[in-house]
Amino acid sequence: MDERIAKHIIPWLSGKKTGPYEVEFRITRTCNLKCFHCPGYDEKLMTSNLLPLKSWLKIIQDCEKMGIKECLVFAEGEPMSSKMALPMMNEIKKLGMRGKTATNGTLFTKESAENLVKISWDQIYISLDAPDAKSHDYVRGKGVFDKVIKNMKIINATKKKFGKQLPEFLFNTVLTNLNYNKLDKIICLAHELNVSTVCFHPLNLWTKEAEKLKINSKQTAIMQKQIPNAIKLCKKYEINNNLNVYLDKGWIEDSRKKKTEVRKNPQKKASSKEEKENPFFRLACYLPWYFISINEDGRVNPCHSIRNNKENIHDKPLQEIWFGKYFKNIRDQLLKNKVPLDCSATCCAMQATEHQEFRELLLKAYNEKDNEK
Ligand code: SF4
Ligand code: SF4
Repeated sequence: MDERIAKHIIPWLSGKKTGPYEVEFRITRTCNLKCFHCPGYDEKLMTSNLLPLKSWLKIIQDCEKMGIKECLVFAEGEPMSSKMALPMMNEIKKLGMRGKTATNGTLFTKESAENLVKISWDQIYISLDAPDAKSHDYVRGKGVFDKVIKNMKIINATKKKFGKQLPEFLFNTVLTNLNYNKLDKIICLAHELNVSTVCFHPLNLWTKEAEKLKINSKQTAIMQKQIPNAIKLCKKYEINNNLNVYLDKGWIEDSRKKKTEVRKNPQKKASSKEEKENPFFRLACYLPWYFISINEDGRVNPCHSIRNNKENIHDKPLQEIWFGKYFKNIRDQLLKNKVPLDCSATCCAMQATEHQEFRELLLKAYNEKDNEK
């Protein structure tokens, strides 16, 4: 989580409503892979009401006018499988916003690598299930691991050729029974490929197939023993990570239960005067104060985990949606320490750990602002 986001939402505390800090564009539901546990991609769910490139470019321009700082080119499937991805990325950077994308890493070419390096695209999150072909390909398909590594090397070589630091690579790694004992190898691979951050995620059992990847108690114990060494290795290689979260085994074994516990009782963590007195400092989730997500057909949400979208960019401008009734209602429920109805079934476990950390950043930003007076 980012300190800049904490600073961005502080004005809400004195009644000054700010626009979103980040916008996520979920541009397609198509994907070139067929991972057996995939919860997202489903071409059958594509509607006929898809936003064309022209509309996306207009939305990007509106985002810049609203003061949005970061744009995420994401997908329910694979963003790079859409022909709109690169032109959208180019527009985002042309308008001076930061750009991120999350990808399976298989579809980059020499040309797209050069394009991304030239525009200084900021961050590329690569989904990495394991540090070896056998385990990674078990989930994603034959030859996928080698393809991803080759593409990352192409991008790194292109950065070198043009003397650029960006794009920065990050790994998104879901903890499973394929990688619970390979933390050190994942970190070494990250070091080898110039990856700045490894974000470990708990396994969300969104599909029946994902059960096959569940870590059992014995594996949890093995993994927990490895965490301190893995953290040391990250320190040595200066790789950011969130491994300390998993020192609490609840996040590995039953992240759903753990998430519910954190979401329902955020005040349990409240220790400072401000946290106790002001509900804003102990919210279970802050996304509706800084984040907005737009789907491939124009549906708009406070977060990609919400599936039954109520608002659509076809009906009203983004600004109106952000300051409108639906977002206000979600915020009001969170302020009353209730889990909004739309969030109850699908909230992602990782969000709960991130918002635990975010509360600390928020308090810091608030106190710094106070000291500046
Ligand atoms: S790469 Fe991602 S979207 Fe594509 S099939 Fe795999 S998990 Fe699903
Ligand atoms: S689904 Fe979860 S992360 Fe998303 S807005 Fe609701 S509480 Fe926040």
